[in-house]
Amino acid sequence: MENRIIEKQNMDVFVNNLINSDAEVVGAKRKDGKYAFGKLADATELCLDYDLALYPPKSYLLPPKETLIKFELGEELEAEPVVEAERVILFGVHPYDIKAIELLDVAFSGTNPDINYLSRRAKVTIIGIDCLNPNPNAFCASLGTATTDTGFDLMLTDIGASYVVAIGSSEGEELLGKYAVTREATQSELVQRDEQRQKALAKYKVALSMSAEDLPELLDKSWDSPVFKEKSEKCLSCGSCVMVCPTCFCFDVQDDIALNLKQGERYRQWDGCMLVDFALVAGGENFRRDSETRFRHRMYRKGKYLWERYGKLGCVGCGRCASACLAEIASPAETFNTLKEERRQHD
Ligand code: SF4
Ligand code: SF4
Repeated sequence: MENRIIEKQNMDVFVNNLINSDAEVVGAKRKDGKYAFGKLADATELCLDYDLALYPPKSYLLPPKETLIKFELGEELEAEPVVEAERVILFGVHPYDIKAIELLDVAFSGTNPDINYLSRRAKVTIIGIDCLNPNPNAFCASLGTATTDTGFDLMLTDIGASYVVAIGSSEGEELLGKYAVTREATQSELVQRDEQRQKALAKYKVALSMSAEDLPELLDKSWDSPVFKEKSEKCLSCGSCVMVCPTCFCFDVQDDIALNLKQGERYRQWDGCMLVDFALVAGGENFRRDSETRFRHRMYRKGKYLWERYGKLGCVGCGRCASACLAEIASPAETFNTLKEERRQHD
């Protein structure tokens, strides 16, 4: 992988050149003392040293609500698919969010390729940046998601006076050549990048007490654990943990018909397994009617089900769920560690 250097004084020029191109540039901006991804109007709005954005950049690939089909009712039904995709550059995405996007890519391109997702994805460029100041709730170091060698077009690492830029795709290379002032990286600068990454790994405050590969087996043995009931007793079923999660991709599909009963649209919007009516089906049956079964399902989805289906865990350890949960029970790391301790005492 080729590596270049952008001096810090040249970064604003690069960002502003991108803003003035044909793409919408999105990056982390300060918001009420926190950070949120949003459209950039100027390079000065961009934060590259943030710890965690409130929401992941997922909404630029899978909007919270989107129309899938518009239809007209008459003697014959006329239906038109709606596929909207704009060119977007996600600037400054942390490795764990890139890993989450890799999971979404697999999930939406499987046996039933999702044309809406894939059309957007084809127009999204990802410029990553290593997270050197992890959030106190993050545990990416335990999941191998604190750094990444894949999933980006460009990857930046802050080494003090400059950024090392790893080139991950021909599109990334083209952007650099067209819009940035760069020079070749020296061996010593690449060593500095490794040192910065190592230092960041040592800053994580939360860690799994087992290896990530052991999670499916741990969960296999933990179905009847009292831990799920104990923790879920505090659950408000608010759904915040799943709405902020970069790897959650469940949605509900509904039809809306105009008052004239002639036009309508089919849309989808985010849904989440921690919400009471998520597993409610016609006839009134709810397959997960209590918070314990919903809580357990979420943990299995994170640590077992998606691993078995896609070979990737359903959690990248970003810590957003733990940050969002008023009941302070949402961190998968905390539940997995409690289950591990329970097993240790049991075995
Ligand atoms: S489950 Fe929590 S820690 Fe894991 S990816 Fe989702 S929000 Fe992040
Ligand atoms: S675990 Fe926390 S964030 Fe998730 S639904 Fe329950 S109370 Fe809400």
